[in-house]
Amino acid sequence: MSPPADPASPVAPADATAAGFLAALHPGSTTLSPARDLVVGYDLEGRPLHWFDGGTTYKRSLASELFGRRTVGGARERWRVPAAAAAQRFEQALAVARAAEERLPELRVRGDAAALEARLARILAWTPQRLAEERQRFAAVYRPVSILPPDQYHSVVLQASFGCSWNRCTFCTFYQGRPFALRPVEEFERHVEAVQRFLGAAAAGRAGVFLADGNALVLSNARLRPLLAAATRAFPGRPVAGFVDVFGGERKPARDWAELRELGLARVAIGVETGHDPLLAHLNKPGSAAEAAAFVRLLKGAGLAVSLIFMVGVGGERFAAAHERDSLALLERLELGADDIVYLSPFVTQPGSAYAARARLDGTAALAGAALEEQYQRLAAGARRLAPAARTALYHLDEFVY
Ligand code: SF4
Repeated sequence: MSPPADPASPVAPADATAAGFLAALHPGSTTLSPARDLVVGYDLEGRPLHWFDGGTTYKRSLASELFGRRTVGGARERWRVPAAAAAQRFEQALAVARAAEERLPELRVRGDAAALEARLARILAWTPQRLAEERQRFAAVYRPVSILPPDQYHSVVLQASFGCSWNRCTFCTFYQGRPFALRPVEEFERHVEAVQRFLGAAAAGRAGVFLADGNALVLSNARLRPLLAAATRAFPGRPVAGFVDVFGGERKPARDWAELRELGLARVAIGVETGHDPLLAHLNKPGSAAEAAAFVRLLKGAGLAVSLIFMVGVGGERFAAAHERDSLALLERLELGADDIVYLSPFVTQPGSAYAARARLDGTAALAGAALEEQYQRLAAGARRLAPAARTALYHLDEFVY
């Protein structure tokens, strides 16, 4: 969508009164709030991460792209902030820190006040120019990170493989034009070191490790063993998660999953999409509801948590009733626990995808507006009823920021 006019109010730090100026020191981040409706969060290297400014939230990716988000009249708006406006936001983050430094003795401080001066010094080193240069640093460390499950946006992403081993689902364009490739162990180890250097102290604010890309856990245990060892050596004490699809994951026996659990894997994210087999076939995604149920049982038996992604509205009006019925029937068969997550992701037809072309040919009407919202509400209510211990959450693909 086109971005709304960004007010980029460069903070007006002069308006901030010391009495109302709050600095909060968290174990993995610092937040500065010169006024009730302005909060800026920084990582432990001092780089701004997020802004809350008068009802609009901004998030900076590690590549220094800036995304804005707000809700107007119940409708969500999200946009990529153009570079010039982003630079103003970076300037604003710096201005807030300068204002905090000037008022240091009078600030209200939460957390370890003795550490504030050092944290401010780090923040003040991040000029808009230096922040913009993070884009090149990021590109030297990572290939594009296409998507993560929402609970992993703040993990350390480590790319063990590239692309997706299947890459033929009609709706998915995440890894288009990127053939699946494994990363040799030595190259992965160098990548891990580069990520360590890139994140620096900010790694402390990232509580997990995500083994990317699309289907990394499909690799054999012989390949995953040294990768997990390198990941957990560099980022100790963090649970590891990764994507796998049913048809790839089910080939691995229970003992292999149990071994991965021993090696640090804690959570597996699965694009289930639907419990309706004809719809899955329509999407050209292998597997079935029965296979998904058996695979989830296998993973749970190995002591792993699961994040299951269902798409709301996929298949349009034609599949709506059957998709809803069979997805809930599948959820009913799964014995999900408190560590498990059911994600409901509103389906977005990707322009240029095979799905879009087929929908045009078939004349399949998309589920949109109130009908999409109603399906979401019914699936969410059903998931809460049928999997009461698990967390049910909305997953907007376009809110992904790494
Ligand atoms: S949906 Fe998953 S399995 Fe299908 S192409 Fe995309 S990443 Fe691969």
